[in-house]
Order: sequence, then structure tokens, then C-alpha cells
Amino acid sequence: MTKRTDAKPALQLAGALDLSPAPESCPAPIKSRYGHFIGGEFVDGDDHFTTVNPATGEVLAEVAAGSDETVDQAVKAARKAADGVWGKMSGADRGKFLYRIARRIQERSRELAVLETIDNGKPIRETRDVDIPLAAQHFFYYAGWADKLQYAVPGGNPTPLGVAGQVIPWNFPFLMASWKLAPALATGNTVVLKPAETTPLSAMLLAEILQEVDLPPGVINIVNGAGRTGGAVMGHPDIDKVAFTGSTNVGRIIMRQIAGSKKKATMELGGKGAHIVFADASLDQAVEGCINGIFFNQGHVCCAGSRLLVEESIAEEFLERLKRRVEVLRIGNPLDKNTDIGAINSVKQLGTINKYLDIGKNEGANVWQSPCPVPDKGFFLPPTIMSGVQQTDTVVREEIFGPVLSVLTFRTPAEAIKKANDTEYGLAAGVWSEKNSKLFEVAHALNAGIVWANGYNLFDPASPFGGVRHSGFGREGGIAGLWAYMGGIS
Ligand code: NAD
Repeated sequence: MTKRTDAKPALQLAGALDLSPAPESCPAPIKSRYGHFIGGEFVDGDDHFTTVNPATGEVLAEVAAGSDETVDQAVKAARKAADGVWGKMSGADRGKFLYRIARRIQERSRELAVLETIDNGKPIRETRDVDIPLAAQHFFYYAGWADKLQYAVPGGNPTPLGVAGQVIPWNFPFLMASWKLAPALATGNTVVLKPAETTPLSAMLLAEILQEVDLPPGVINIVNGAGRTGGAVMGHPDIDKVAFTGSTNVGRIIMRQIAGSKKKATMELGGKGAHIVFADASLDQAVEGCINGIFFNQGHVCCAGSRLLVEESIAEEFLERLKRRVEVLRIGNPLDKNTDIGAINSVKQLGTINKYLDIGKNEGANVWQSPCPVPDKGFFLPPTIMSGVQQTDTVVREEIFGPVLSVLTFRTPAEAIKKANDTEYGLAAGVWSEKNSKLFEVAHALNAGIVWANGYNLFDPASPFGGVRHSGFGREGGIAGLWAYMGGIS
């Protein structure tokens, strides 16, 4: 693999940001230290950890790790708002706050996109065109529901659940926060949100936005920290609803923790999406779809199409086309709008992915990596394709959560369906064919919460998102996203 020697760091120092060497000119002010956002105010913490820029490895800021006492303070603020101002507010007025948040996200979208890219490592093209606009759309969409909840549950008498504890992952930090906050607020709940420890900065900018729109104190509280803090939120006795997005393993821990309590729960967990390409598909489009399916956001996507199932008669040709296309993907500075693949979010995640590459090699996989130049600083991995793998191989069964595609073949639709469903997960899948009847039959037979036909990774606030089996339960998005936050549903 060749190394790029001219890669320039996006950042020199934490605190006063010098963005001059970077291609992106919009400033994203980063403070040297962050606390929490509780009761409408920024409050400091005792212990701190650091968040780094994964494209350079340099420290961006110190961030407070919320203690049990901090979490308790946040839950009390949320309870006060739930029983008081927010609980008593009409749906129409709640909706106005959601509209205001949505508009302010749009107004500060450039800044949010730059900040998210710096903290997460994902390409600016994605934060600018996908993450931040979609987040605003979620607030707009749920703003419209706030005064129409009775139509979301015909025959029911919807009521808020109370205080929601929400824990989110690092792969879409701002978008995941929006997916959780917008329906919770629209339905009259208040929230204690815990962002992921490697990507806390966009949530802190959201807190500024909440102050700017005068959201009543305590409606949204943000407590920073890692797993311990997340556990304190989920287990707090005065939390009525837990909403978790993250790994299946941590989902299991939380389910054990809340077992026997009255807390309602939704779990958005891991996946190992099957991406099926039939010989009659438009191959050029399917190649683009597969690239989007696995290399979007460096493959840090729960619904990634990480298992390519390609019909045997075209497998060789398809793989050749795929590699030719992958070779020209640009990996590098996430702030450069020409970058296709940014940085792996953390050194820990890079280690996990490399561990899976070693396992794949030991299990007999042909591991191919794009010869594209890779920056010599930061956490980067070239797009990787593993062929010659078997259904029983670890790299085919376990979620790698990186830019790594496993390639399998099939001969008949029945074999494709069997292999696609042979997984403990059930989040997403994709099918490519020019025959609509085949698309419908196969999609119907796939055991996954979301199936895309002749496309992949397509998201819409009106469309429910969520998994089956070990990918979790409950839905985010659409009307179903409201049900997860309401009682009184008959
Ligand atoms: P993770 O489970 O390690 O962490 C997720 C969040 O949980 C973080 O905020 C973390 O601090 C917190 N956490 C860790 N231990 C905890 C505990 N014991 N109690 C409470 N909170 C705890 O996952 P990750 O590495 O941040 O994210 C990647 C995973 O998230 C992948 O498995 C991916 O598939 C999944 N994911 C799922 C969806 C979905 O909608 N289904 C969306 C995005 C990501």
C-alpha cells in the first residue's frame, strides 16, 4: 500500500482552530473543554476524557464524564419539565419549538457539518449533504405530528411516557440524536441524552441551538460520558423509557439491566446486511449501489450491505467491475469535498477492523485492498473486499463495522434468500434485478426490517427504520417512531 506524504492535518490545535490548511473554510469553533447541558444551562463536570480528530489523531477537546449524581441532576430537570411546562404545553406549541429547532439546524448546517466531520472523521460531502439535512428533516417531520397525535393512533388516547433516557452511537452522532429527540419531543416527553464518547461535539452545538430557540429548561438534557454514564441513564429509577442505539452486546446488557422494571424500551442494534445482485440487474448501477452500501461512512453503518451475494454466472465480471470502481475512490482528508472515504472513527475501531482482516486471512479469505494512497497520519483503512469466503466464516457472520465487504455467490433465488437469512441479525438488505416480480418475491422472503430494491442506504423521515432478531426491536421514523414514545395506545 502506498503512503501519501503530502496529507495535511485539518487541525493543529484544540481550542483556537486553524482551518487554513484545510479545503473547508467554514469555521467550526471548538472549545477546549465541555461539560453537560442540564436544565437549559451548560454545567461543568469533575472527571474529563478527550475527544480526538480521527483524521489526525490530535486532541480536539476535553469532555466531562457524567457521574451518577450528574445523571440524577439531569433526570430531575427532565422530570420537572415533563410534569410542568412541557407536559402542560399544547401539541401545536410543542410543534413550534420543533420547527424552530429544525430551522436553526438549517441555518447552522455548514458549521454543524464541519464540526461533525472533524469529530467523527466522515467526509464533509456526507455530513453536508446527508447527515445534517436529514436531521433537520426529522425535526420538520415530527413538528407536523405534534398537534395530530390522535391521528397517529386511531381509537387510542395517546399520552407521553414521561422522561426518556436516550443513548446513541458515534457513527451518525447528530443524525441519531435527531432521530431520537424529535419524536420524543413531539409526543410530549422530556429527555436525557447521552452522546457517544468519541463524538460528543455536535450534541454540544445542538445544546447551543436549544438555548437559541428558547426551548424550556429541562426538556432536553445532555450528559456526556462513556458506557458507565450510559448505564446510569438507562438504569435510573425515574426514567420511563429507554431508547438505545448501539451494538447488540450493549443492547443485551441494557435489557438485563432494565428487566423487571416498568421502563419501555426500543433497541436499534447491529446488522450484517445482505446485498443481493441478480444476473439480470443493471450491473453499472448495482456496482454503484454496492459501493454506497458498504463504503458510505467508512462502513460504520448499522444497515451496511456488508455481505454481497452475487449470482454465480456474473460473479467474476461483477467483482472485476467493483474493484475497478473502488480503486478510484479517494480516501483522505474528510474536510476535502472530493474525499469519498474519510477516517475510521477511533484507533480502537481501527484495531477491531484489522483484527477481523486477520481472522479473514486465517480463515482462507482472499483479502483485496484498494491501492489508493492513504494518509500517513490519523486512522485510515483502504476499502477492502474479501472473496473466497464461506457462509460459516467469522467475517461473514459478525459485524465488522468498517469499509470491508465479504463476497459470496449463489445460483438460484432460493439459495440467495437462504444465505441472506442465515444470520443472527435482521436489520437491512438490498436486492438488484430488472424484474419487478423477482424483486417483490425476494424482498418479501428476506428477514430484515428494511429491504431496498435497486438502491441502498436510502433514508426518509416518514419511513420507519428498525430491525428484527438481534438487530433489535421498535422503530424510529414515520408514524411508528411516535408509537415508541406514547402510552394510551389501544
Ligand atoms: P456501543 O454499543 O459500544 O456504544 C453505543 C453507545 O452506548 C455509546 O454511547 C456508549 O457510550 C454507550 N454504552 C456503552 N456501554 C454501555 C452500557 N453498559 N450501558 C449504557 N450505555 C452504554 O456501540 P458503538 O460502537 O458506539 O456503535 C456501533 C454499533 O451501533 C454497531 O453495532 C451498529 O450496528 C450500531 N448501530 C445501530 C443502529 C440502528 O439504528 N440499528 C444505528 C447506528 C449504529
